[in-house]
Amino acid sequence: MSKNNNKLSIIPLGGVGEIGKNMTAYVYGNDIIVVDAGLKFPEEEMLGIDIVIPDITYLIENKNKIRGIFITHGHEDHIGGLPYFLKHINVPVYGTRLTLGLIEGKLREHNLLEVTKLITVTNKNNIKAGVFTVTPFYNNHSIPDTVGFAIDTPEGVVIHTGDFKFDFTPVDNRKADFHMLAEWGQKGVLALLSDSTNSERPGYTMSERVVGVTIDDTFRQAERRIILATFASNLHRIQQVFTAAERFGRKVAVVGRSMVNNINIAMELGYLQVQKGTLIDPDEVNKLPADKIVVLSTGSQGEAMSALTRMARATHRKVEILPGDTVIIASSPIPGNEKFISRTIDQLFRIGANVIYQQVSGVHVSGHGSQEELKLMLNLVQPKYFIPVHGEYRMLKKHVELAVGTGVEEENCFIVDIGDQIEFQNGRARMGSKVPAGTVLIDGLGVGDVGNIVLRDRKLLSQDGILVVVVTLSKAEGNILSGPDIISRGFVYVRESEQLLDEANRIVTATLQRMVAENVNEWSSLKTGVRDALSRFLYEQTRRRPMILPIIMEV
Ligand SMILES: [Zn+2]
Ligand SMILES: [Zn+2]
Repeated sequence: MSKNNNKLSIIPLGGVGEIGKNMTAYVYGNDIIVVDAGLKFPEEEMLGIDIVIPDITYLIENKNKIRGIFITHGHEDHIGGLPYFLKHINVPVYGTRLTLGLIEGKLREHNLLEVTKLITVTNKNNIKAGVFTVTPFYNNHSIPDTVGFAIDTPEGVVIHTGDFKFDFTPVDNRKADFHMLAEWGQKGVLALLSDSTNSERPGYTMSERVVGVTIDDTFRQAERRIILATFASNLHRIQQVFTAAERFGRKVAVVGRSMVNNINIAMELGYLQVQKGTLIDPDEVNKLPADKIVVLSTGSQGEAMSALTRMARATHRKVEILPGDTVIIASSPIPGNEKFISRTIDQLFRIGANVIYQQVSGVHVSGHGSQEELKLMLNLVQPKYFIPVHGEYRMLKKHVELAVGTGVEEENCFIVDIGDQIEFQNGRARMGSKVPAGTVLIDGLGVGDVGNIVLRDRKLLSQDGILVVVVTLSKAEGNILSGPDIISRGFVYVRESEQLLDEANRIVTATLQRMVAENVNEWSSLKTGVRDALSRFLYEQTRRRPMILPIIMEV
């Protein structure tokens, strides 16, 4: 086989046709590199599921070829699946300092830190990984130290943007690497994989500094305590809160586990500049005058157990929100969370707090580039082929329109699904065959043990409850020795439904007697008979279909 038979395959294993669980494999001959290993939060119908991660069967089957995993930034949709990946595939993890700092905590929790090789990268590195050479480049996003990767392959350079926006006045002054991108564009880029999150949004995404101005205005006007909730990973915004607090002579208390963790890591690594004495313990909040306090909190999504939600309900152990306090919710709702946030905002208004949230003022800007920034990326890179990623189908579709507008040939744009392979050989691209791909559900410690059947059961249970029928039969004659006893949960209130349950009892007895008389004696048939008869009766009477669990014992 000549070397020319080799081809480059790009395989998205997550993050296309969806927002979340980003993961992409680059394959050439006997070498594979992976970019990102994210998680996704479960959909509403995934009852009891904690997180969702990509199916990595394909990577496990080819694990001897994997030369490393490259991480763009520290958001959960890019690092949340990493522990599950590393449990199967022990390869070096490449990332920037802050990204690896955030990953360390995760690996420690999973007892993987000791056995994992973490390699810090900057935009000065060219990392050799098999046939690939990977060069990180800086871009702007809602978490510091975010990078994209230029991946040099035998077929040409592929630019993988990661999540990005272009912020010309970034809070940490770390500018995007426009010149590097332009240089690759000049030399010729085979393909661009670019963030599609805001492809439907016209114009430019505002600079994070805009939020700083709003924060300053609010601090100037607030007469009592200020409580500000935002994403725990948005360290630029958190920096602006500390800076404003110092400017206006306030102390900052931090509540919420993830907020405390992230701030500790960021301060340790030098990603947050905080003057000595600014940070105070939440215990001190009630000891200082109201106009000297800022509380930084999690819960900007209205999450039930978060610090902000508990403070709003007056169930937080240390901090209570009082009339006249100013509460700033500095984030926008992730789709699906709107109702939780509005509930929290309602509660805060009831307390008499002065609430500032996105709908009424500029306390949030997106971390993802809008249309003009996406076009700027396309203009800098000038790719031959274009693959929109990080978005639902309509966002990918819109992004292709933008790309075509900047001069990419329409037939050179690929809207793909997870598991698709885009193959590049001798400068030409085509769709290859699919590899196994999908979702793995995680419930507590169980990885992938909850599937469709379990979810269907949980759904039934959540809708109509459960009925357990216990009967003891004699082994010899098959007659009923005790029972049937019917126990129900979540179906009907037993005390008010005695008649219904008595009737159900009679139906079970009659069904069993008839079946025994007909010489039916396998358990499975008896159980099915009971279940069918009872289900029919209960549906007629109540129009509900509880889960029915017959337990038949023989003595
Ligand atoms: Zn991100
Ligand atoms: Zn993302």
